[in-house]
Amino acid sequence: RMSRLAVGEIREMSGNDTVEGEMWNKACFLSRLVASSVRVSQSAGDLIKGILARGELGVIDKGSESVYDPQTEADRAAQYLIVQSLHKKFKDICIIGEEEKVSAVEVLEDGASQDVLSLSFPSDLSSIEESNDVVVWVDPLDGTTELARAKDKTSVETLQQVTVLIGIAYKGSIVGGVIHQPWSFPEGKSRTVWAVKGLGVHGIDVASQKKEKVIVTTRSHGTATVEEALQELKRRGLSTSVERVGGAGFKVLKVLEGSAAYVFASPGCKKWDTAAPQAVLEAAGGTLTDISGRPLVYSSDIQKNNSGGVLATSPWVNHSEYLSALPDALKQSLPEFLPRK
Ligand code: AMP
Ligand code: MG
Ligand code: MG
Repeated sequence: RMSRLAVGEIREMSGNDTVEGEMWNKACFLSRLVASSVRVSQSAGDLIKGILARGELGVIDKGSESVYDPQTEADRAAQYLIVQSLHKKFKDICIIGEEEKVSAVEVLEDGASQDVLSLSFPSDLSSIEESNDVVVWVDPLDGTTELARAKDKTSVETLQQVTVLIGIAYKGSIVGGVIHQPWSFPEGKSRTVWAVKGLGVHGIDVASQKKEKVIVTTRSHGTATVEEALQELKRRGLSTSVERVGGAGFKVLKVLEGSAAYVFASPGCKKWDTAAPQAVLEAAGGTLTDISGRPLVYSSDIQKNNSGGVLATSPWVNHSEYLSALPDALKQSLPEFLPRK
């Protein structure tokens, strides 16, 4: 193993390979893919924890001249682990990961979550076969900016913003996904939140209606358009306060646990940032679109940037109320597709 597991983190140790094998043989393709993604995300989380514990983050800047976009050894190794582990089992799917530069790891993850394998899938999902119509979007480490800049490498307050994101799309639409959080607040224990379309969300208690409408937004990628959107929502009574935190995965976990919405009126967020969060949020009854209400498309040839921004609302919030509060000029400044150079 790449890193030692704490006792509380040893997962699904049935010790019965025959049962696991039988369940695997009976499961449909999508069930196997989600079940494998759950375990792979957990292994990636363990890998990230090990790399941080050793303390050599190996930060490089992969951004352009004008923007700082950090990448660490944890991003590189987790990407390799996730992509190789999934490709080994599922040769005919398309996997798109954030990182171009990767670091090989010796041990791949071969397990599958029995919790997923034991779910019964409706026929529209169980009929999906392995093919390149299935696209897996991988953000091996979301919240890198927060991890790389964190002064205190043991602060759960900071580290909770790190997540591993695996989102699964079929013919461009989200059908499932996993958000794994290596350090959850307050004790720093890991947790895995996963969802399949129509089959609910697992691993998290979804909050019901709150009086306060807390808006979560970027901590490190603020822009004038982000601020304009926040001000407008406040003016319309749709925001009582704003929390600035890192990571698309973490922000959607916040939305599931009581925040009203995640608002990002800027073009920098990518498909691998929103795929898994969208799967989890929508399975819980929430909604994720761009700031003009256009659905995000996840086919393999699609533009990577969510250039129309991101608006994610909790299950108890009226998404269209938030959409219509945002000014038209702001929406027009964030088109669905960037002009090709
Ligand atoms: P944030 O809300 O700032 O934590 O961003 C959520 C995700 O979108 C992270 O993976 C960021 O790296 C990415 N992101 C947002 N804005 C930008 C940007 N301007 N440049 C690069 N990545 C961005
Ligand atoms: Mg990210
Ligand atoms: Mg990332």
